[in-house]
Amino acid sequence: MTKFLFLIVRNRLAAAGGIVLLLVVVLALVTPLLPLQPPNVTDTADRFLGPLAPGHLLGTDHLGRDLLSRLLWGTRLSLAVGFAAAVIAAVIGAAIGIVAGYFGGRTDNVIMRGVDMLMAFPYILLALAIVAALGPGLMNALIAVAAVNVPFFARNIRGITVGIANKEFVEAAKLAGMGHWRIIGLEILPNVLPVIVIAMSTTIGWMILETAGLSFLGLGSQPPVADLGSMLGEARSALITNPHTSVVPGVMILFIVMGINLLGDGVRDALDPRLRSGALTRPMAATTVRRESVPEAATGESLLAVRDLETRFHVGKRIFRAVNKVSLTVAPGECLGVIGESGSGKSVTALSVMGLVASPPGVITGGRADYRGADLVGMPYRKLRRLRGDRIAYIFQDPLATLHPLYRVGDQLAEAITVHHAVGRAEAQARAVELLNDVRIPNAESRARAYPHELSGGMRQRVGIAMALANAPDIIIADEPTTALDVTVQAQILALLEDLRRARGLAVVFITHDFGVVGQLCDRVSVMYAGRVVEEGPTDAVLAAPAHPYTRRLIACVPELGQGRRKLHSIPGLPPPVDNLPEGCAFAPRCDKAQDACRRGEIPLDPTGARAVRCLYPEEDLSVRGGTG
Ligand code: ADP
Ligand code: MG
Repeated sequence: MTKFLFLIVRNRLAAAGGIVLLLVVVLALVTPLLPLQPPNVTDTADRFLGPLAPGHLLGTDHLGRDLLSRLLWGTRLSLAVGFAAAVIAAVIGAAIGIVAGYFGGRTDNVIMRGVDMLMAFPYILLALAIVAALGPGLMNALIAVAAVNVPFFARNIRGITVGIANKEFVEAAKLAGMGHWRIIGLEILPNVLPVIVIAMSTTIGWMILETAGLSFLGLGSQPPVADLGSMLGEARSALITNPHTSVVPGVMILFIVMGINLLGDGVRDALDPRLRSGALTRPMAATTVRRESVPEAATGESLLAVRDLETRFHVGKRIFRAVNKVSLTVAPGECLGVIGESGSGKSVTALSVMGLVASPPGVITGGRADYRGADLVGMPYRKLRRLRGDRIAYIFQDPLATLHPLYRVGDQLAEAITVHHAVGRAEAQARAVELLNDVRIPNAESRARAYPHELSGGMRQRVGIAMALANAPDIIIADEPTTALDVTVQAQILALLEDLRRARGLAVVFITHDFGVVGQLCDRVSVMYAGRVVEEGPTDAVLAAPAHPYTRRLIACVPELGQGRRKLHSIPGLPPPVDNLPEGCAFAPRCDKAQDACRRGEIPLDPTGARAVRCLYPEEDLSVRGGTG
């Protein structure tokens, strides 16, 4: 609740709207206590007095009635009617929507066709017809306005309810034997309540306007009682000669409706969990870089050299150190495996290299990533863009999410080429088909005309690989490209990647959580834990003799076929949250060899020959084994 209020207050427009509205409502509430002239007493001698006349602060109207008094009483009435209409419409509409959405089938059909019929009439016309049938009067205007708004709520809430009624927790409640009405009350209603409040907060202004409209036409409040609409209506004939009689109620309507709408938008933004967590803040084209010092470039002839890379996420007051001084090198044509449990910072490392981490909340706070001697971190966006997808390509985990659902895959491939190279359409299309052939998609010619949803998961990932290959890059970063696929398809994709790599001399950074895959594919491997590299070395050496206890236990998690029965080990506990890392070794709490010294100070990544390990008590003494395993 405090968070909600905080968000409202932080949103300046919403706060301004809220203050205006609060003033108006307070004025309306205290109106009976104020020393005002009676609102309905006529005094024809004092007709059309201007504002600031003695005894009449805002002047008088065509019958000599005090405008200030009529304004305040009228506001009170308009607010009450508008609010009552909104509550009635929301309650009835929501009830209809929930029943239709929850029961579905024929109930839904019958109810919603009725609602559609109401919606088929123009809004105001329907309200006019209802008042005409019931007879003019404020009560009837209220009923009419509520009635024409019921369909809006019903439709809205039905949509939300349909979505919720199929969720597992509702199924679970049914299986637990709860009755329909109990489920609606306990499971559905709490979930749609925020939507009802949001819909109300954004429509209440409309309803006040509609009531005023009916009164303006003489169908709402009847003389001599004033509401804002009837005041406007009565002042119409004197609009030119005595404009203040129209301006006074007009300005009040403007204040009320603007106040409500601004506040309503603020309420919606604050209640919507997606907007609240900043999901709809537009990330920048490249990750923000805020480096205090830049380390020296690594020496040696690597294609990609990441050095002391640090990426953080600032979420509220918490700082997540997702990547903590990570160094990796990839030589031309080499395959580097990056392995670690989910949440160990593999993806963020890879995304940081290309400046693809969403900012906000991500910030690169240190380190560098050299591609052929040029630092990618902090590179001007235009230069970075030329490299992305051209020299350095990416394969993502979920091919369905990365392909545009409305374009044919051939067109998407062609676009990937034309973005970077000035080639004609026909040539790009031909190249696309060739690429599909390269990744062994049968009937590439016709498959190029397929949409992503027409392809199987394995096919889509092949398209993803083809897209990465489109511009013949030097290096491909593959972020768990096979995790979403089943084992047979996974094996095919891995074999394909391996072939393509050998044939084209591609360097690959292969991110995975599966040591089996690393063993099959990678020349070297870096093991990550809680945002740091804890061990690195040639794959065979690491597999044969893991030095870090974490690596050993990761390897022990891989089942081996045909090796007889072997006890599979899991690692107890979970990786620590990276916003509050313990001192010393982050793995110590889960490690069976941890000593007191492991929980103190910074433990360095100790290099020995080609291998390195960040552990005080490694499983293997690397120096004895000559460092190469
Ligand atoms: P993985 O190794 O599974 O690829 P990630 O690199 O995706 O892990 O994430 C590493 C850590 O970064 C996570 O533990 C998470 O706490 C943090 N993180 C990632 N994305 C965000 C984000 N948008 N906001 C806050 N924290 C994030
Ligand atoms: Mg990941």
